[in-house]
Amino acid sequence: MANTSPKENEPGVNPALSGGITPIEPQFLVIGSGIAGLFFALKAARFGRVTIVTKDAVDNAATTYAQGGIAAALGTWDNPQKHFEDTLVAGAGLCDEKAVDILVHEGVHRVQELIDLGMPFTRGGDGKLHFGREGGHNESRVLHDHDHTGRSLESFLLQRVAATGKVTLLSNHCVVELATEHHLRKKKNSETAFGAYVLDAKTGEIDLYRADVTILATGGAGRIYPVTTNPPVSTGDGVALAYRAGCRVRNLEFFQFHPTALALRGKKPPGTPAFLITEAMRGEGAILKNPKTGRAFMQDYHEMRDLAPRDIVARAIDAELKRDGLDFVYLDITHKDAAFIREHFPLIYGTLKEQFNIDITVDPVPVVPAAHYMCGGVVVDYDGLTDLRNLYAIGEVASTGVHGGNRLASNSLLEGIVFAERALQQVQQNLSTGSLAATRAAAAELSEWDHTNAKNPDEWVLISHDFKEIRSIMWDYVGIVRSTLRLERALRRVDVIYGEIIDFYNRTIISRDLLELRNLALVAQLTIRSALARRESRGLHYMTDYPESRQPSRDDTILEPAHFTGRRKAEA
Ligand SMILES: Cc1cc2nc3c(=O)[nH]c(=O)nc-3n(C[C@H](O)[C@H](O)[C@H](O)COP(=O)(O)OP(=O)(O)OC[C@H]3O[C@@H](n4cnc5c(N)ncnc54)[C@H](O)[C@@H]3O)c2cc1C
Repeated sequence: MANTSPKENEPGVNPALSGGITPIEPQFLVIGSGIAGLFFALKAARFGRVTIVTKDAVDNAATTYAQGGIAAALGTWDNPQKHFEDTLVAGAGLCDEKAVDILVHEGVHRVQELIDLGMPFTRGGDGKLHFGREGGHNESRVLHDHDHTGRSLESFLLQRVAATGKVTLLSNHCVVELATEHHLRKKKNSETAFGAYVLDAKTGEIDLYRADVTILATGGAGRIYPVTTNPPVSTGDGVALAYRAGCRVRNLEFFQFHPTALALRGKKPPGTPAFLITEAMRGEGAILKNPKTGRAFMQDYHEMRDLAPRDIVARAIDAELKRDGLDFVYLDITHKDAAFIREHFPLIYGTLKEQFNIDITVDPVPVVPAAHYMCGGVVVDYDGLTDLRNLYAIGEVASTGVHGGNRLASNSLLEGIVFAERALQQVQQNLSTGSLAATRAAAAELSEWDHTNAKNPDEWVLISHDFKEIRSIMWDYVGIVRSTLRLERALRRVDVIYGEIIDFYNRTIISRDLLELRNLALVAQLTIRSALARRESRGLHYMTDYPESRQPSRDDTILEPAHFTGRRKAEA
């Protein structure tokens, strides 16, 4: 069958990974060019050859969209213990305390490294770093570059990576499958990653990229929902790739929704991420109103009204939308002085006025909650190692345990660099010439991709609607408020759609669209299964039929693939 099993005994060598190197120089394959992948590549280039494959333009990553900043207890008034405590409170009793301890302590050093490398964080008139404060943080500890931190970080890291001269960065290269023992003759169970099969979207060719160490840094999965702040690349590929290759995934039920994203698209092309309306606007007095009644509604849901925690505000908006059949609610700040609004929210004021003809000094803003952040992911240890040897997962794709049931704002960029560094350190300790030689000998047996029998996608129209259908199922039944009934209904439907997609995939020439659809459907399915497994309400996961918290374990929603070998369990 095409597209599932490469031809046997036809080893190929990828020039990007094999040209002109000494036998003991490690070869790294990094999948993804957001903060996690770029930070790893920057460090790894010091002692090996690095190839980054990334499926779109190099800076098309969630990292580029980050606004608020990166948290680190670097202020003289702050310390890592306070950051630790705030992270645990946000995590609703499910954080892995050792992972959080690592995050807050090592995070200080990693952010200091960024500063020392020259990352242009905003400074005050006195030249000192400016620390912002965000929801859930009891201290000012968020370093930022105005309100476009992610854009600056991404271009800063891209420049530094290019300057090493040892990193090959391939845009429009989308990973199809991780290469494992499954692709070796006679071996069925996968225990080791040897690189990946990668689609060059421009030529349509699928090449084998062999590597001694493979790094999954593919980011999140906001695109499983129709309304999301995430860019089009966030289709959960890493979770799907790792799960198919034999890795466990965990806690996918905890998907963070940002309460207030702009409900309008204007003339933006389809797929443009929803524009965020910062929480700071409610901090300055903006009020959420039901557009049908004109009534402020947060008083019905929480004593802190519009300043209630993020998940509570998102649930309240969701309840108003569902009860009254609304497309959006209003966020209204028109009662404040116009000059004050323009001064405090220049980006929002300018964007809404120019692109949507909304003047926030006189018009209320239509908002909806939007899928924002995947707290769960691929199960890893404290060094980012997955269930497969030589496969690491870092950044949003990984489940390190630092976020528990809800992510503390600005901890995700931090997680990316902290665990990238730890992964590299572990690789440095463990990679010996002997292990490199053994991995390469096995990898030499891998086969090239087999296109035989694959046909042109003339029936694409049959499944192109599946994107939309999956997303609307996820929005209607697996959104902010869930129930067993809704989740079971969603799973039945997604199972059918997934079956159709796999059937299509197995006989059709592969494209990036098809890969993303297949991954997105699997991640939707896994998310629903995780949500069904957590029979309680906790953090971001709210079940109407289980409104109490009663399952204080992260591991309740670990999902094992059918062919999970348990190697890591056995070796532990
Ligand atoms: C609007 C917005 C605002 C945010 N604000 C903040 C903030 O202020 N502070 C904070 O800490 N966090 C914030 N976050 C979250 C944070 O930006 C992300 O969690 C973080 O950037 C993820 O980094 P990453 O490197 O793991 O993944 P990403 O930055 O998403 O990068 C993933 C990369 O993998 C590539 N890729 C994916 N699949 C494949 C494949 N199959 N083959 C090849 N390449 C692939 C993508 O093209 C991309 O290059 C925000 C997120 C959004 C969307």
